[in-house]
Amino acid sequence: MEDGDTAEPTNAAARRASRFALIPQDDPEQAHRVRRLLLAGCTSFVVLFLFWLYYLIGLMDGPALTNLSIATIVGNILFYTLFRTGLNTRAPDPSLTLWMILFSTLVLLYAIGSANDGRASLMLVYLVPFLFGLFRLSIVEMLSIAAFFLAGYGWILSREWMQMDPRIALHLQVFQWIVPAFVLCWFAIFAGYVGSLRKNVSDSNARLEEALTRLQAQVSRDDLTGLYNRRTINDILEQERSRSDRGGLPFCLFMLDIDHFKVINDSWGHAAGDEVLKTFSDSVSQILRPTDFLARYGGEEFLLVSTQTTLDGAQRMAERLRAMIAAAPFPSLPRNAQVTVSIGIAEYRLGEPIQTALLRADAALYAAKQNGRNRVETVT
Ligand code: GH3
Ligand code: MG
Ligand code: MG
Repeated sequence: MEDGDTAEPTNAAARRASRFALIPQDDPEQAHRVRRLLLAGCTSFVVLFLFWLYYLIGLMDGPALTNLSIATIVGNILFYTLFRTGLNTRAPDPSLTLWMILFSTLVLLYAIGSANDGRASLMLVYLVPFLFGLFRLSIVEMLSIAAFFLAGYGWILSREWMQMDPRIALHLQVFQWIVPAFVLCWFAIFAGYVGSLRKNVSDSNARLEEALTRLQAQVSRDDLTGLYNRRTINDILEQERSRSDRGGLPFCLFMLDIDHFKVINDSWGHAAGDEVLKTFSDSVSQILRPTDFLARYGGEEFLLVSTQTTLDGAQRMAERLRAMIAAAPFPSLPRNAQVTVSIGIAEYRLGEPIQTALLRADAALYAAKQNGRNRVETVT
């Protein structure tokens, strides 16, 4: 209740803070995209600075510099707005990489068209936005961008050629086009290769993660019943012990042992015995609270850790468990066969080693067996 009271305003405040932050705080994927966008944005302003230098040394005229400045500023604001309003997530590729590169291509084509003698060095600048696609775009997308750029560049060259003496200039113009065409196509193919390597790495990472999750489940659970195994419950016990020592919260241990299980095996076979263990685990699990932990501790022996429970509450719960098992149907056994369980309980005493509490629960279980089985005992 207390948690709920405080959690909601805190979440709302966090959401509000995230909305006004430069990078979103509540969505790691979107934060990663905005960080990439900011990197691209900073790069575009560095390039704008280069245009400004072109202007200063007379390689570009004033109106062209003004248009390029407006395009850079408006483009960055537009993309940032798309990302921060979340509109980008509606696109098939929410990183909008292709669109950002196409936008930079248009800006640079305009700059190249306006840069007079400074064109050759600007061609080199174009590799920067082109390389942004390296890790994200497919070879076809990279080749399409290269084709788009080369078509625009071809148009600039042909427009220029029309103003020259065609007999002298044609081979020069064609050569000026062929060199960047070769470089860009090579980069596009290389980018496709790097992209496929990256995909292989991320695929095998995903497979590794899956295997790790499966392995963790196998290591922490019992194969037959799916309950926690002894190793895991020992870790849980240590955690609960230190939590209890810090906060003074009580918790209880229940040692449960199926009565005359050997007789069940001997009478109806080992496979029927296995089914009894499964049915028993499922039945007990069903009446547990989310804060309880149940483990298979040995062959037909189970340990239940019931947190935030006093000895009185534990006794009532154990009695309910015992009665439920005695009345439960066990489908692998004949209809009239009855399975019973003996339960020993101990409450953890602040500051004691967990082993001491376990020994008390074990002694209580022994007493339950001695006193006739199908009963609950407590050692205080
Ligand atoms: P008690 O009432 O005193 O607990 O008697 P019990 O027969 O239940 O206890 P005992 O320790 O004599 O026998 C336990 C039996 O549980 C012996 C063992 O073969 C059987 N067992 C242990 N693990 C498994 C298992 O995974 N599957 C099956 N089917 N039997 C198991
Ligand atoms: Mg037994
Ligand atoms: Mg036993």
